[in-house]
Amino acid sequence: MSIDNDFRNQILSSVERFVADRIAPRASEIDAANLFPADLYREAAALGVFGLWIPEEYGGIGPDMVTPLLISDVIARVSPSFALIFSNCGDAVTPIVNFGSDEQKRRLLPGIAAGTTIPCFALTEPGSGSDAASISTQAEEVDRGYRISGRKMWITNGGVGDVFTVFAKTDPDAGNKGISAFIIERGAPGFTIGRNEDLIGLRGCPATELVFEDVFVPADQMLGEKNRGFRIAMSTLDEARLNCSAMALGAATGALQCAIDYAKERVQFGKPIIEHQGLAFLLADCAARLTGARAIWQRAMTMLERSRSREASTIAAMAKLLSTEAAMRVTTECVQAMGANGLSKAYPVERFMRDCKPFEVFDGTSQIQKLLIGRHLEKYGLPEVSHEEIAALGIAAE
Ligand SMILES: Cc1cc2nc3c(=O)[nH]c(=O)nc-3n(C[C@H](O)[C@H](O)[C@H](O)COP(=O)(O)OP(=O)(O)OC[C@H]3O[C@@H](n4cnc5c(N)ncnc54)[C@H](O)[C@@H]3O)c2cc1C
Repeated sequence: MSIDNDFRNQILSSVERFVADRIAPRASEIDAANLFPADLYREAAALGVFGLWIPEEYGGIGPDMVTPLLISDVIARVSPSFALIFSNCGDAVTPIVNFGSDEQKRRLLPGIAAGTTIPCFALTEPGSGSDAASISTQAEEVDRGYRISGRKMWITNGGVGDVFTVFAKTDPDAGNKGISAFIIERGAPGFTIGRNEDLIGLRGCPATELVFEDVFVPADQMLGEKNRGFRIAMSTLDEARLNCSAMALGAATGALQCAIDYAKERVQFGKPIIEHQGLAFLLADCAARLTGARAIWQRAMTMLERSRSREASTIAAMAKLLSTEAAMRVTTECVQAMGANGLSKAYPVERFMRDCKPFEVFDGTSQIQKLLIGRHLEKYGLPEVSHEEIAALGIAAE
């Protein structure tokens, strides 16, 4: 299901106003203080945006795949950190929407849609990142439920989270077929929310350690089927990758706009620096890279919205790879284009550059995207592009 175009445009207009009036004036302060802006989360919730991933019967206005991605792009042009604070809700709530029992959905989704319950997705551990199947958090079966022990790392919004989808081994010898997903709420005895990391970028969006010491989880708080948790974790990744692309593209667009404005004002050797061909070429290269990356992101969105095919998934991996690498290159060049001012916190460009680096790491590093694309090439060859698809993309772009 997806919402209609008029409604989508209405939501995007109200998000644009919120970004200009409320987020823009706070973006550099959020970065400097590395503090979660709880008031802005509540204000975003009042716009209804956290309901976009959630069906109406559970208090939402969705589910809709495309609108949240467009919102991430819009917010990231000003604050990539707030874009992640917002969009992580989608990564975390989608497993509950897709695999939760009716009881779990009735209990959790209305609060998440209203912004009063913050959801998190907890897979990564100190010893297990790209190789997610190697997690060592254990879920031991006991009378009426499970006891969970282990440690998670880098969990987005963890420090302010209320409900956590936690992945743990229910059959330690069965590799990725021995992992199950559990819903654990803040305050459960034995569950400690640890420190927030002090990261290079996306500051203000907590990346948090979680510790589970013999935490009892009732059997009915398992999410989906026993030993099918890895599938749940992987099923969120296509959209998560497109979201990561959206944020990277938004951040790079914000940086490039700033660098262009600067280059038109800054005079050296008697003329604005944009009139020096060497500098204009640098900006032209940035604009071309960004526009190319946007095109594959849009294509991946269109494909995924139409079908969850193998091709769509591989194109989403390509979109993630190309947009995050383009964003890193573009933001670095924008710093260069602005000379010493590019390095100064008086302008947002250095922040955009710092914010872009994590996009090449989470939701699968660039190397992992290449691994996935390489596997597709090996097994199925180049993803095919049909003439019907090109024609449909033309219609979608109008
Ligand atoms: C800001 C941020 C937010 C995050 N949010 C969450 C979250 O909400 N929930 C969650 O569960 N996790 C989260 N993560 C964790 C993230 O998913 C991991 O950082 C990511 O999967 C990479 O794992 P790693 O950092 O352990 O790196 P590693 O897996 O240790 O990789 C280190 C390096 O080795 C390379 N490498 C690894 N394997 C291969 C291979 N087979 N071939 C080639 N190169 C390889 C990698 O590309 C990388 O360059 C977040 C991370 C960050 C930075």
